[in-house]
Amino acid sequence: MKCEELLQMLNEYVDGTVDPGVCEAFEKHLAGCNPCQVVVDNIRQTITLYKDGQPCALPVKFRRKLHDTLRERFTQLHR
Ligand SMILES: [Zn+2]
Repeated sequence: MKCEELLQMLNEYVDGTVDPGVCEAFEKHLAGCNPCQVVVDNIRQTITLYKDGQPCALPVKFRRKLHDTLRERFTQLHR
């Protein structure tokens, strides 16, 4: 898995369509890529904080913001 593929998966994770934690390729990439680890931790924390107490899907507005943050952090860290 490449960093770009991981980013794609994270975007789907934000949309609630995939759980990257269950993907072996994802975990394998994370184990060897520090910048991706940081981005994933960040996004997971944000989602957990938001979802605390509400099992519903994330609102579109929030998801869009999260996508932007994700891309921004990813670009910063992978320069
Ligand atoms: Zn990576």
